[in-house]
Amino acid sequence: MDFDFTPEQEAFRMELRTWLEANVPEDLKANAADMVPSSWEEFEKRRAFQKKLAAARWIGIWWPREYGGRGAGIIEQAIYDEEYERAHAPRMTNHPPINQWGPTVIHWGTEAQKKRLLAPMLSGEETWCQGYSEPNAGSDLASLQTRAVDKGDYFEVTGQKIWTSAGHFADWIYMLVRTDPAAPKHKGISCMYVDMHSPGVEVRPLIEITGAHHFNEVFFDAVRVPKENLVGPLHEGWRVAMTTLNYERAISGGHNHASQLNHLIELAKKVTVNGHPASEDDYFRQQIAQLKIELESLKYTGYRALTRQIKGQPAGPELSMLKTVGCNLVLNMMRVATEMLGGFGTLAGLTPNPSIPDAREWLHRVLGVRGVTIAGGTTEISRNIIGERTLGLPKS
Ligand SMILES: Cc1cc2nc3c(=O)[nH]c(=O)nc-3n(C[C@H](O)[C@H](O)[C@H](O)COP(=O)(O)OP(=O)(O)OC[C@H]3O[C@@H](n4cnc5c(N)ncnc54)[C@H](O)[C@@H]3O)c2cc1C
Repeated sequence: MDFDFTPEQEAFRMELRTWLEANVPEDLKANAADMVPSSWEEFEKRRAFQKKLAAARWIGIWWPREYGGRGAGIIEQAIYDEEYERAHAPRMTNHPPINQWGPTVIHWGTEAQKKRLLAPMLSGEETWCQGYSEPNAGSDLASLQTRAVDKGDYFEVTGQKIWTSAGHFADWIYMLVRTDPAAPKHKGISCMYVDMHSPGVEVRPLIEITGAHHFNEVFFDAVRVPKENLVGPLHEGWRVAMTTLNYERAISGGHNHASQLNHLIELAKKVTVNGHPASEDDYFRQQIAQLKIELESLKYTGYRALTRQIKGQPAGPELSMLKTVGCNLVLNMMRVATEMLGGFGTLAGLTPNPSIPDAREWLHRVLGVRGVTIAGGTTEISRNIIGERTLGLPKS
């Protein structure tokens, strides 16, 4: 097995590294891993950076050039992901849509849809959110009840979505709707996109335990949706959804693991435990070494998934493994951080101080990490998939 990159791939890496070093705004680095901007001001700053990336074609790395992408390969995309994280570049305003929905449109969309939707998605000119989950349809997504009724010239959409990340910043929502209620539950679903500024769309915030506004509920009351907004065949949205969810599972085991571990190592140098820095304490040194081992194995599992993709093979168990192992890794990192900080680590009153300047971030990270095990399909469901499809265990 050869894990070395070719000279051309290394040249790509260095060109990108140089560009990012010159262009990533300093003030966006601290909260780079936060999926959703904390304010409109931060949103606009991230959007301005994304516009720059798009102008230099440093986004949509494997997407075809005619839709605004770079037209490079999957390996270059993997190198890009490593360098982007290394540079502490901020999550793009359209980060999940670019990783999940854009590829879905490339796979299922008409030529007109690709021309209309993809370039503004890359530049951040138009922002997107995902409307799959409903109050009674999460793990059992096919139970969704939001209806789209064929009214001749248009669809009329009525229902409710929930846990809609960044819905309050979005211009568009891509969603699953029931178009044939008489059909079995996995049939009769369609995929379409809806203008969030349409009459009848209402966005209500859901505030997290961290105090952050990440999610929303989105209500649809007889919303008119043009027929051309249907993506993929009518009533066959489940197949379209599987494309999105496969891309989503690959990135839903947490983010920025390497830089999160670096944050933890920095913390270990600053926090005093038993009269010396945690970084000199046997217990914490062992814990950090173990995390580093898990980080490396996660990287190589990612390369295995990549190899399948390059060979044109269907997605394998690696995607569910990336989800479960990635989640365990971030959970363990936050456990070690909490042990270092002691009980104070979970108190909102932990204020920045000379020894721990990013104290407040740790509270946010420690509490926020629980969501990672749920987003993009829960780890329990991923374990079921590994058990049933890879190990051949009986169905749960
Ligand atoms: C950070 C975050 C971001 C999200 N963003 C979005 C978004 O932008 N758009 C969107 O549509 N959705 C989003 N979601 C929703 C997410 O996809 C759902 O929360 C997830 O699929 C679980 O569904 P649920 O919340 O209904 O939980 P449920 O399905 O009700 O599950 C509850 C519990 O039961 C367990 N469980 C359920 N079924 C089984 C089973 N068969 N075997 C074993 N255990 C089981 C689950 O693992 C879980 O622990 C987001 C969630 C999070 C946390």
